[in-house]
Amino acid sequence: LYASQGEDRTNSMGVNLANDIDLAALAGKINAAVKPWAAGPLVPGASSTGPTVAVTSPADRRIEVGQWQAADTATVQRALANAVAAQPSWDALPAAGRASILEHAADLLEARMPEFMAMCTREAGKTLIDGVAEVREAVDFLRYYALQARRQFITQPLPGPTGESNQLQLHGRGVFVCISPWNFPLAIFVGQVVAALVSGNTVIAKPAEQTTLVGHAAVKLLHEAGVPADVLQFVPGDGATVGAALTSDPRVAGVAFTGSTETARAINRALAARDAAIGVLIAETGGQNALIADSSALPEQLVKDAINGAFGSAGQRCSAARVLFVQKDIADKVIGMLAGAMDELAVGDPGLLSTDVGPVIDADALKMLEDHAARMDREATLIRRVELGEATAHGSFFAPRAYELKHLGQLEREVFGPVLHVIRFDGDRLEEVVDQVNATGYGLTLGIHSRIDETVEAIAARARVGNCYVNRNQIGAVVGVQPFGGEALSGTGPKAGGPHYLLRFVTERTLTVNT
Ligand code: GLU
Repeated sequence: LYASQGEDRTNSMGVNLANDIDLAALAGKINAAVKPWAAGPLVPGASSTGPTVAVTSPADRRIEVGQWQAADTATVQRALANAVAAQPSWDALPAAGRASILEHAADLLEARMPEFMAMCTREAGKTLIDGVAEVREAVDFLRYYALQARRQFITQPLPGPTGESNQLQLHGRGVFVCISPWNFPLAIFVGQVVAALVSGNTVIAKPAEQTTLVGHAAVKLLHEAGVPADVLQFVPGDGATVGAALTSDPRVAGVAFTGSTETARAINRALAARDAAIGVLIAETGGQNALIADSSALPEQLVKDAINGAFGSAGQRCSAARVLFVQKDIADKVIGMLAGAMDELAVGDPGLLSTDVGPVIDADALKMLEDHAARMDREATLIRRVELGEATAHGSFFAPRAYELKHLGQLEREVFGPVLHVIRFDGDRLEEVVDQVNATGYGLTLGIHSRIDETVEAIAARARVGNCYVNRNQIGAVVGVQPFGGEALSGTGPKAGGPHYLLRFVTERTLTVNT
């Protein structure tokens, strides 16, 4: 049904490859596959005088990717006015009509998969494998939310006494602001935007600054598919000015946000401080994700899944495995195998099929990771540091590392990158381990490796996480198959790619008529 459910072909990290793309032909040609492109606000009636930002590739800062112009204050105001004016007629369309536009966009995107993959590699440093997954997930979101809208957005007749008709209707809430992250510049961007649109809202999309160009291309594609220009507007810029102007505006009904817990809190405060209707916040934020393995775990499978979960996508997923808790009896063996498997990781040019780990997003991310590694070098035991491959000198590359820690308290916060922390535990302290993980306050993903059913059940029942994966890796939730999202510090829910997601974007109206 969805794009992800094709025939399985997997690479060395166990990631599915697309069936309909000649990856080998694309490999090595990524830099030529798209020419530098330009982006700017897509706001009818506005012409921004905001500053222009030059974009270079995270894999090689000498490569020019394109440039974009930020929205100025007048453009933001115009976007808000347009969105307010366009909403009633967009909402009045039958949901099936809006769903058809999403389905058309899915077809367009599938047909242009290599181009969008190339854009993700160029601007975000995504490997080819991640590029495939990215475009597929975006296609999945389009088809899945279209299907859910057709199923869910129907007027329900309700019972009543003779002479009275009652019905329950669902409507868009109004203007939604969608603020997306750079780690899924296409999939999460498209997912948020089309969920809001198909629910009858008009949308102002503000992409992460680092991946503005991909967001712009996605909005153009949605316009081409039939979304009117004033129904979906694109307003690039930084969070402190453009983002803050949008989230503090009383005309905004809700915000869909994926990013840091800190920013989600700031948006929540901005929405609450307005002298306006109470705004809705749908936030997907960070995690301090654990992988817990008892002595019955299969070491080969555990190591493969730990490597994939920690280093896949250069660890730049909020679902990534950050801490491996391994029971003492198998710890030496697992740590030895982990070090060996890390030696096999190829770090380098994301446009090559042989590359497992590409660059991190930018210099700030690199600095944060290097600072963390410096602290770990002093306070923990290095298990392995992967050698950087060729052609990494001009990009923001960080050598993936694993450290052994004594206790979880040594990790102050989520480390968003390719670093795995390993902690040994005594078999009789399993519950304590789960309690420690819960006590971080995050609740996104948890991996469990065990062949003892009672242990799996006990951990899963005790853990307060949104997505729990048993005897497999803990990344790469598939739309409609593993609805994704956490609780507590990790997000508000409802889960993206799940059956309840759209319901948060609508408001209910009851119509009673005395006939
Ligand atoms: N949905 C993605 C996964 O399951 C993670 C999304 C994110 O990093 O924000 O790996």
